[in-house]
Amino acid sequence: MNKATSPEVMKLNNKKAILEFIYSEKNIYRAQIADRTRLSNQTVTNLVKELKEEGFIKEVTMETKGKGRNPIALSIALDELCAIGVEISVRGVTVGCFNASGQVIRRDEHPPTDVILPIVKEMLEMALKAADAKTILGIAISVEGVINESKGLVVKSSVGLEGVNLKEELRYLGIKTYIRNDVNLLAETSDRQEENYMMIRFDRGIGAALFLNGAILRSDHNMAGEFGHAIVYSNPSPRPCKCGKTGCLTTEASMSAIETHFNMSVLDVAEAYHAEDPEIFPKVEQLSRYIAEPLANLITIMDLEKVLVTGTLVDLLGEKFLQSIHRAVHERLSVWNSFQGIEVLEAYDFAERSAKFVVEKYFLRWRNGGAISKK
Ligand SMILES: [Zn+2]
Repeated sequence: MNKATSPEVMKLNNKKAILEFIYSEKNIYRAQIADRTRLSNQTVTNLVKELKEEGFIKEVTMETKGKGRNPIALSIALDELCAIGVEISVRGVTVGCFNASGQVIRRDEHPPTDVILPIVKEMLEMALKAADAKTILGIAISVEGVINESKGLVVKSSVGLEGVNLKEELRYLGIKTYIRNDVNLLAETSDRQEENYMMIRFDRGIGAALFLNGAILRSDHNMAGEFGHAIVYSNPSPRPCKCGKTGCLTTEASMSAIETHFNMSVLDVAEAYHAEDPEIFPKVEQLSRYIAEPLANLITIMDLEKVLVTGTLVDLLGEKFLQSIHRAVHERLSVWNSFQGIEVLEAYDFAERSAKFVVEKYFLRWRNGGAISKK
């Protein structure tokens, strides 16, 4: 029998459609589900019964002002489901067990270590235990670096996992696991799914993601968004980069590069910058022009309206620095450009965002490569 039409596959698809609808609409009546999914009332009744028994949905009594029995709606049993979110960065490892509404059940942190893989495994096992009787929807791990997301392979990273296939390593846990580049994960879980933008993280390294037409721009070699290795041609004395080229943006504007060239901590650089120290201030302004050069080119090529930024460097140098980048970008854009500005990303927690990623992947088909309904 053709796999696509087998009754099991059809049933699974129908269940997914029902779950997606309930998840998106919150409290919903059976009749509305039948209406929207075009399934018969009997099919909806049967599938809803199964989903209830499996612990995915619950009945909610709706308050009405009218007489008679209050109607019963359906809702996802968010408190009974959970997701594991993990952050692996140069600052260490965070593993959290969250329920599907995003409330933390258990959260552990570990400082940077040379034996990172056993630590991650141990922390994951503890988080899974904390889930107790709850159904675990999956695990998502955010990693700084170049990640082959479909394979789960860490291609390049400063966190000490280069060449490690995390998906394979964690297969023994028996739980669906996603491995994502940190900035891609931030972009995919942002509430800006209707907008086109570039997201850049200025931190120890520089990472970026392009979010276009409802999806992350992905490439064959997982290097899309490697903004840190864009070359700054206006730099009169380009430095060699570990990637083999010279003059990459990261050799000037990553936190690590700044600390080396300024010979002081980024915190001290930021303080001197805010105090408009005559020696430091122009050097930081120069950095903003270096960032603006490849950024303006990208804005022009992709016709971007918006750039979202985040990271420790952004936090420390603040609005003044962003204004400076913004001005330098504008000088390089044509009069036809519709670029609106640089915006700082709202506060986030990688472990929590990773857990959110799992929940949305589970319930929303359009994030699983399905059709995107956009304006
Ligand atoms: Zn480079």
